[in-house]
Amino acid sequence: MGKPRAKRRTGGRPVDAGALKRDTLVMNETQTFDTIIVGGGLAGGLAALALASRGFNCAIVDAGDPATVRNAAFDGRTTAISYASARVFRRLGLWDAVTPNAEPIRDILVTDGRAKSRFDEGAVSTFHLHFDSRELGDDTPLGWIVENRVLRNVLFDAIEKNALVTLFAPAKRAGAAFNAAHAIINLEGGQALKAALVVAADGRFSALRAEANIKTNQWRYPQTGIVATVAHEHAHEGVAQELFLPAGPFAILPMTSASKGEHQKKHRSSLVWTEHSDAAPAFMALDDDKFRIEIENRFGPYLGAVEPAGPRWSYPLAFTLAQSYIAPRLALIGDAAHAIHPIAGQGYNLGIKDVAALTDVLSEARDVGLEIGHLSVLQNYQRWRRFDSASLALGTDLLNRLFSNDIAPLRFARDIGMGAVGRVAPLRKFFMRQAGADLGALPSLMAREL
Ligand SMILES: Cc1cc2nc3c(=O)[nH]c(=O)nc-3n(C[C@H](O)[C@H](O)[C@H](O)COP(=O)(O)OP(=O)(O)OC[C@H]3O[C@@H](n4cnc5c(N)ncnc54)[C@H](O)[C@@H]3O)c2cc1C
Repeated sequence: MGKPRAKRRTGGRPVDAGALKRDTLVMNETQTFDTIIVGGGLAGGLAALALASRGFNCAIVDAGDPATVRNAAFDGRTTAISYASARVFRRLGLWDAVTPNAEPIRDILVTDGRAKSRFDEGAVSTFHLHFDSRELGDDTPLGWIVENRVLRNVLFDAIEKNALVTLFAPAKRAGAAFNAAHAIINLEGGQALKAALVVAADGRFSALRAEANIKTNQWRYPQTGIVATVAHEHAHEGVAQELFLPAGPFAILPMTSASKGEHQKKHRSSLVWTEHSDAAPAFMALDDDKFRIEIENRFGPYLGAVEPAGPRWSYPLAFTLAQSYIAPRLALIGDAAHAIHPIAGQGYNLGIKDVAALTDVLSEARDVGLEIGHLSVLQNYQRWRRFDSASLALGTDLLNRLFSNDIAPLRFARDIGMGAVGRVAPLRKFFMRQAGADLGALPSLMAREL
């Protein structure tokens, strides 16, 4: 790998420092920032923009090449962005670029869809829950389904234009040093970056977390998430479906329509199909026609004829929860702090809340003259986020264990539970607010009213 490219600004114009080169980027040069964010994924990219919105000067260091990461083939997933998370994008001026490609979720249908009763008899299970956004009393949808490639491109476009954010990518970290005065991140190639605080946004396998000796609770699920886009005959009407099948949840998520000519059937949905890990490779290897039959068996007839539209991706599923979100001059956000089962579509939403909370904590500390890398400041961030994300992470784990099986007593218990929630309006509203990430102490970027 050559020397990492860094975006620089001269005379207000972004310049590629790879092209700018040698005379400005001297080997062993140390550049100083307020914060260095290691990991420019969905959490790290958003963190840089949020911190920059409060005047912090940020560096992002990412191992990936932006040209590859921006490409559709890099990540085929969609993300369910909750309505509280969307406020963060809105307040950072990013939502207008997202919204043409964001499909509103109007209803969520959850069905205990054991394969036999659901598919063999062609009937919907009597045990289902219906969450209707209209019950919350305004026109706000329950969330939006957005392709990850769209989110990544929106973030990268904004980063390129932001005078307070410098991107070093592709750039590998050669080392890190934390001391009483500052933190240093060394890059392969000789550059050194200095800041008061390092934000670890380097994902589930965070090397920074390990180097800081922060332990994790972690386990692998015997499940793999198969992700694909399908085109279908009938409109989805903004309904997200989650079928609980014995191998795990099977989610059908409404997407924006394909542009004309892109695909014959223009209605599209995204699948997140949780399957036993030992069976997943066989499903991944099926030709499109056999894959279509497997999908149709699970969908039933409600979307009409369906067909796969594009490649498939698979993700081994695991749970990772950091035992601390902070160390001196280090704060963990996103999957570096908590990587959870996608059953409730909340992983990135938790990361968005981390970003918003950290932004409040750091700007409030700076405004009263405190040092942003000091442990006493970072403790405020940990107090705000750790319990909240741990309880949601463990809740999703429990949900997956309760539903990903066909054990009769468990089935009975969960169906009673679903029936109860389905009949009690305040409970339904509670779950909708929970899914909307609109409960608890909300950071200012997420608050209902400012
Ligand atoms: C199948 C599936 C479906 C999902 N659906 C949803 C959903 O609907 N809603 C939702 O909220 N969440 C969902 N999630 C979770 C969501 O995708 C993740 O929580 C989110 O992508 C995590 O983002 P991140 O930036 O924290 O981590 P990552 O995306 O892992 O980014 C980490 C970044 O760090 C960089 N990096 C790593 N190591 C280094 C290093 N040493 N030096 C420099 N850079 C480094 C990487 O290149 C990468 O860019 C889903 C997850 C899965 C698996």
